[in-house]
Amino acid sequence: MISPRKTYIIANWKMNFTPGESSLYLNRLSKRITPSRNVQVILAPSIVSLQPLSLQINRRQFKLAAQNFYWRDYGAFTGETSVSQLRGFVDYAIIGHSERRYIFNESEEDIAQKVAAALRNGLTPILCIGETAMERSDGETAASIYSQLANGLHEVSKEDISKIIIAYEPVWAISSNKDARPAKPADIEEAQALIRKHISKLYGKTASEEISILYGGSVNSDTAGGYLSIRGIDGLLVGSASLIADPFCAIVETAKGIKNER
Ligand code: PEP
Repeated sequence: MISPRKTYIIANWKMNFTPGESSLYLNRLSKRITPSRNVQVILAPSIVSLQPLSLQINRRQFKLAAQNFYWRDYGAFTGETSVSQLRGFVDYAIIGHSERRYIFNESEEDIAQKVAAALRNGLTPILCIGETAMERSDGETAASIYSQLANGLHEVSKEDISKIIIAYEPVWAISSNKDARPAKPADIEEAQALIRKHISKLYGKTASEEISILYGGSVNSDTAGGYLSIRGIDGLLVGSASLIADPFCAIVETAKGIKNER
């Protein structure tokens, strides 16, 4: 029997907060968010805050994720941080975020190598995929989802697919984009079904039923409940609404409420 999938609420703080500010903010969150067996809250601060927060954090309450890293384990790569250097600080790694793909020109090959490096070092990759506005208007949503998934998982074996989380983040729905608009539940349900279909083709039916799929894109405390109720959606990747305690804590509470009802 397939065991019920956990709910994940991931806070992507992006390039915000100094280490001191991150620490104060974590302190505020930890007073308001109680540990839960069903809802895993994951914080992704910027890289300079990972080490101090890893000492401060109660790991029953929160886990940490890296927003980025370089896929080689060590060597002459000035300015980069390897996932092996992050081991011990983080349990998860966000990979293939659209800001990395489109601002920093990260290639599909880089992304596949990062997924492999995270797995090699015992971290759970959170692989972000999603079509651009132009791909959607050209009717290429399904093709884009398929190619990002197939390329990103290129190095992942059948044994390791259960260790991956997929975040469906249509680029046009991410709040930092000009003209961002929230995705419709029907579009998200269709996308998660496509993702499960591809996973089934690549790794088999059980893998497709077990894999966790999150949604990300302009989620706030008013819309979180609706998104979390979409069939096949196992959590949220939250950007701007994760930077303020009130909306973020409300999103976590909503997730706990929905999980307890199921
Ligand atoms: C993101 O960048 O992953 C994201 C979901 O951002 P926002 O919630 O601000 O749209």
